[in-house]
Amino acid sequence: MFKKNPSFSLHAVAGFVLLCGAFAAILGGIAGELSSTAIPTDGGSGLDAGKEPLPYTVVIDAGHGGEDGGTQSAAGLEEKTVNLEIARMLDTMLRTAGIPTVMTRTEDILLYDRNANYKGHKKMLDLAARRQIAEKTEGAIFISIHMNAFPEEKYRGLQVFYSPHDTQSQALAQTVQAETKRLLQPDNQRKIKKATSSIYLLDRLHCPAILIECGFLSNSKEAALLETEEYRQQLAFVLFCAVMSHISEYNA
Ligand SMILES: [Zn+2]
Repeated sequence: MFKKNPSFSLHAVAGFVLLCGAFAAILGGIAGELSSTAIPTDGGSGLDAGKEPLPYTVVIDAGHGGEDGGTQSAAGLEEKTVNLEIARMLDTMLRTAGIPTVMTRTEDILLYDRNANYKGHKKMLDLAARRQIAEKTEGAIFISIHMNAFPEEKYRGLQVFYSPHDTQSQALAQTVQAETKRLLQPDNQRKIKKATSSIYLLDRLHCPAILIECGFLSNSKEAALLETEEYRQQLAFVLFCAVMSHISEYNA
């Protein structure tokens, strides 16, 4: 499935460097920090021209969709909408950097067969379809994007859950959590969490797999940020940098 292309790795790094520059205007201080610390160089990244192509495809999963809006803010912002937009942004960034991607959904829909007997099973069929997309993708790195909510308004901040079945999952989760703290939320004290069987996809998938609760729609300040395209871009960019860093490390 992966074509041999010796220039691929170099292309990925070049794309990453270009993107960091391209998003500097959007991200201001964030990109400034990145330019000094997070951009792989040929000195130690492992992503040099002589290497085999990266055996990865990033599967980007925008949670919920269609009749399942997920959680929502007091102002009526639905989780499914924010999930999909951040997923699309991340997809664009990764593709621009030369990283193969697959999105589980690109529209406002749940994934189930309209011709099948789906009554009462829509959500389960949808999750099974997402699982199947990841399982069919060779070298999948599965990234599920969600928003959080809690009855008490005070809770905020990104948190990453990881699949217990693949050792890379925990490392990737830790990279996303750490990059979020470093680049976007310096006061974020949250720790990554191993997923239990209550998170179907992370429980069933055996590829590197994480689920990112990007923020709390139940927190009015965080919900207001999540309303803006700028903040969504920043979140997508943090995820992008973390994925690039992870791929670079595991391809070394
Ligand atoms: Zn969700």
